[in-house]
Amino acid sequence: MPAGVGAPAGELTEFASLDHEAEVLRAEAALAGWLQADGFVGQYERGTNRSLTIEFQVALDPLPAGTRVHNQAALEWTSLPDDNVSAPYSLSPHNALSTERRYDPATGADFYQVVASATVSTPALPATYLAQLNALQSMGAVVMVLSLKQQLSEQGYYWHNLPKEAGFPFLAMCEHTNFVSPEHFGGDHLIYCGDYLPPDHEYFRLTEGELLERYAAALPRFNPQFERSWIKQVWLFRETYAQPIPPLHHSQHIPDLRTPLPGLYFASMSQVYPWDRGTNYAVEIGRRAARLIASDANHR
Ligand SMILES: Cc1cc2nc3c(=O)[nH]c(=O)nc-3n(C[C@H](O)[C@H](O)[C@H](O)COP(=O)(O)OP(=O)(O)OC[C@H]3O[C@@H](n4cnc5c(N)ncnc54)[C@H](O)[C@@H]3O)c2cc1C
Repeated sequence: MPAGVGAPAGELTEFASLDHEAEVLRAEAALAGWLQADGFVGQYERGTNRSLTIEFQVALDPLPAGTRVHNQAALEWTSLPDDNVSAPYSLSPHNALSTERRYDPATGADFYQVVASATVSTPALPATYLAQLNALQSMGAVVMVLSLKQQLSEQGYYWHNLPKEAGFPFLAMCEHTNFVSPEHFGGDHLIYCGDYLPPDHEYFRLTEGELLERYAAALPRFNPQFERSWIKQVWLFRETYAQPIPPLHHSQHIPDLRTPLPGLYFASMSQVYPWDRGTNYAVEIGRRAARLIASDANHR
């Protein structure tokens, strides 16, 4: 029972000599127990604390830019005697009133409430910066890696650039194990079939099996002996944003890493310049963004 709640004389005999602080602690423990039993997580490593934490989570669908959502959770409870539920629900053998509390909206007395709220907002980017982002162009990538029982390119070629007009279903076929020995891969021969494609290309929709049909049909062109039974395992990777396409005068239209919204930064492959995107440049632009953020924070 919360501190200050009275009980009929004689009901609390076991605790009669306790001072006020102990009474508060006991009351908090009872409330903590109630909250935890209800699935709330309090912060009680040992003994009782003077504060209680009531946690709640809210899952939101993606919010359109410029939206503001305010969530409020209210928890109400009471400890009125008429909440009393007879045994076996009584919490303590020393206090017949120490029962599970419940909220009775009909009564205003002895009424407890906590309210917590959170506001989530998705700020809208100013039109000029947004237009720069929307103007960025890119292609996706579809990559299928296969492990084979046998070597595909017996001439030992590692990298094949393939002309689309010759009917190949991918742009490059790299036999990795013609470069790094199969002994490092448990004896498997690894081939990499990759392509850069517009994000709406059908390869992004086909199942792995359907794509394998198309890809496997091209493999005898590298080795007429190839058979489907050579294929041990297949890994398919698809990414719709994989290769930025810089148009003419791209350098004059690269969006700033520092967006117009205070505290919001944007660093992507599309802002790598004047090189093509690559992992080195990803690290470099990441460091630039970090330096900018640190510098802005120091001047705030
Ligand atoms: C087929 C292919 C071959 C490549 N070959 C080479 C090469 O040989 N050498 C080379 O240097 N570079 C190569 N690259 C380029 C290189 O992979 C990229 O330049 C580099 O990975 C970019 O790093 P990044 O950290 O900017 O982005 P990423 O590596 O793409 O990392 C972004 C991460 O953010 C995550 N993410 C995205 N949206 C969200 C979100 N809303 N919430 C949380 N997480 C999110 C993604 O899942 C991802 O893990 C190749 C790229 C492709 C596609």
